[in-house]
Amino acid sequence: MTSLNEQIISCPYCGEQLDVLIDVEEAGQQYIEDCQVCCCPIVFVISAELDGELSVSVHAENESF
Ligand SMILES: [Zn+2]
Repeated sequence: MTSLNEQIISCPYCGEQLDVLIDVEEAGQQYIEDCQVCCCPIVFVISAELDGELSVSVHAENESF
């Protein structure tokens, strides 16, 4: 069974909206993926809400968070 979760994020560099697929098993993790539009490295931070919903936040690589 796959449990991919589609989310829409905005690139922190160019502001383009991107569809991303998040795997529930990635909750609590972070990873870097290049923006499909401007090719800058976006840091994705995956977290699970109390109700089990996944949320994803994105950061620029040089941003402190
Ligand atoms: Zn971009």
